[in-house]
Amino acid sequence: MRKPIIAGNWKLHNISSQGVALVQELGKLTADAKNVDIVVCPTFTTLTAVANALHGTNIHLGAQNLHWEKKGAFTGEVTAEMLRDVCCEYVLVGHSERRQYFAETDETVNKKVKAALEGNLVPIVCVGESLEEREAGTTEVLVGKQVKAALEGLTKDQVASLVIAYEPIWAIGTGRTATADQANEVCAFIRRTVAEVFGQDTADKTRIQYGGSVKADNIAELMGKSDIDGALVGGASLDAVGFSKIVKF
Ligand code: PEP
Repeated sequence: MRKPIIAGNWKLHNISSQGVALVQELGKLTADAKNVDIVVCPTFTTLTAVANALHGTNIHLGAQNLHWEKKGAFTGEVTAEMLRDVCCEYVLVGHSERRQYFAETDETVNKKVKAALEGNLVPIVCVGESLEEREAGTTEVLVGKQVKAALEGLTKDQVASLVIAYEPIWAIGTGRTATADQANEVCAFIRRTVAEVFGQDTADKTRIQYGGSVKADNIAELMGKSDIDGALVGGASLDAVGFSKIVKF
């Protein structure tokens, strides 16, 4: 059985004091949450303060990005080791906003996934199609290509240990959620793609999240589907009460 995983992506929100207040409230509200991995992904500058506030809770820490090099002249970047150093266990890789605004490609996503795994972080690898691609009927071609490229060169064990987040771009921050059936269809396709390359055993272990306007009132239906193992939550993760309801779907 795959353990559900609900992750909050804070994006460019919250200074340290706000992040600390948020997780202090969230920690209390989710103290009784069982059989679910809870992750929050704050900005780099708030990681240390949030990590300290997470002591004694069942909430894990993730970052929103990393660089693949281990050190050197790469101004503005952070490594997996630096993220481990501030208590991160997870890292988002290839979020559509990074692909769109910061020129991330399938190739750099693959390098980041490898760097995360080598650095003992669990990558949450984001994939998903645009509205134009969905309307053109190319969702599977595009998502299949993104998944294969992101996982290229990994071992079966590595693939079984990471998380894939299916996030249709047209559903992110738009209030327009994919229906549970639409989301499950693509998550099942992603699992078949993983099985094709790494075998069914591996695919059965890999956790696949859905992301895109997930809220307290749609999480239960999404989590009831066969191939959805959790959610990557943006806007709704900024409110402790709302996010706690999602965590306790
Ligand atoms: C996201 O940022 O990954 C996301 C899914 O955002 P939202 O939940 O706000 O659509």
